[in-house]
Amino acid sequence: MLVKTRFAPSPTGFLHVGGLRTALFAYLLAKKNNGTFLLRIEDTDQARLMPGSMESMLNMLHWAGITIDEGVDVEQNKIIQKGELGPYIQSERLEIYQKYTAELIAKGHAYYCFCTKERLDEVRKFQELNKLPTGYDGHCRDIKSDEAKTRLKNNETSVIRLKMPREGVTMFTDLVRGQVEFKNSLIDDQVLMKSDGFPTYHLAVVVDDHLMKISHIIRGEEWLSSTPKHVILYQMFGWEAPHFVHLPLLVNCDKKKLSKRHDDVSVNDYKAKGYLPEALINFIAFLGWNPGTEREIFTFKELEQEFSLEKVSKNPAVFNLEKLDWFNQQYLRSLSREELVARAKPFLTAQFPDYANCNPRVKNELDIWLGDLFALEQERATTLVNLVTELGFIFKTPNPKIVVEMIVWKKSTPEETKKILQELVGLLTAISEESWTATEIDPCLRAWLESSGYGVGNVYWPMRVALSGQKNSPGPTEIAMVLGKKNTILRLSTAVENL
Ligand code: GLU
Repeated sequence: MLVKTRFAPSPTGFLHVGGLRTALFAYLLAKKNNGTFLLRIEDTDQARLMPGSMESMLNMLHWAGITIDEGVDVEQNKIIQKGELGPYIQSERLEIYQKYTAELIAKGHAYYCFCTKERLDEVRKFQELNKLPTGYDGHCRDIKSDEAKTRLKNNETSVIRLKMPREGVTMFTDLVRGQVEFKNSLIDDQVLMKSDGFPTYHLAVVVDDHLMKISHIIRGEEWLSSTPKHVILYQMFGWEAPHFVHLPLLVNCDKKKLSKRHDDVSVNDYKAKGYLPEALINFIAFLGWNPGTEREIFTFKELEQEFSLEKVSKNPAVFNLEKLDWFNQQYLRSLSREELVARAKPFLTAQFPDYANCNPRVKNELDIWLGDLFALEQERATTLVNLVTELGFIFKTPNPKIVVEMIVWKKSTPEETKKILQELVGLLTAISEESWTATEIDPCLRAWLESSGYGVGNVYWPMRVALSGQKNSPGPTEIAMVLGKKNTILRLSTAVENL
């Protein structure tokens, strides 16, 4: 069977991490089966549209590494559509939906409803007061077609509703959950066509998934209760329904559904915080899927090969930020220096726009210096923002008060510390600028440590504090390399003066 999946966002905001998970799983299923991944825009709720949302969502998918085979895409921030089965934006397909609702009306599966908002409100109030299930009461269900025609001619406002069978059950198989059943009597006569001539989601999604030849519908669990309405529509049209897959709910560490109000949910936020797309994708892939082994690190290509619906779970998936940090840290560590420089540079520019002034080397060695700079924190950083923030001490002179407070090592004294640092300044001053490399400085320091008998802590601790102003920092010689000779001597001499 030809596998064709789709991601069908409504352009009402930014791409949600849950949306990225849906898109990823749909994409992976398509790729695993040499199938097609389609993108459709579901903009039938015109009141909720957000300008720029489509572009933003598509750009985020690209950033994450998801490519679109058919449908709506973005090229240089311009929306394009590709494929034979378009248009792929629902607001451009209104005639198609009109044709299909007309068909349902002709077959007696749908009807015009002229109920006013006031009447519907009253019905609802009554149902709530009497603790009855809420929903449309079927008032217009049996209006004869002649009467409907006359009322339409008289420009009475109307919607078109699905004539839901009142008895029986609607069943379907969800590839993750197995057989699912809903009692028809509990399903509302859903509006299919609104009075503004726009279809509702329920009608448009069925018509489009059918006409666009979708084989597997993959979407979040929150759509599960809509599916029986869709299944009924497929039956009414006489179409074969695609396979359904409802992905488990995403919850936060408090086991509550991820929400815009309490959690960071937009993919843009994760990008802005300096998560690498490959780490985010790897993390998201595990939200409801696992390979059935202990292995956790998967490249995008490997996910494409390994992914299978059999390993998708129906239990809620925990969006655990600590785990995301762990993934990101693994990926950050694995970057080559060149890659790290390319990825971290925009974040450095944002936080320290004048960073290039701190480069102690010749101008064309800026990237080499940046490589050394970022390498200082590469092992420890969890995000690119964290990496750059932790390097702040390179760009800002350490606070002299804090330095003096921290600089004396364990049993040592300020006097001894001062003497040691003075000697250190002398030793380092003698090393030329050209020889300012770890291979020159390290042996020199070690020889001095041995002959003086000062002890490692007595030398390295005050050196670290004088250079970084921090308790926890990369090693002092590594910092000295990045600072360059002039700055290193300056920071050490300042500490001596303040002692
Ligand atoms: N437009 C729906 C959404 O915004 C798509 C639901 C579906 O995939 O059927 O999530």
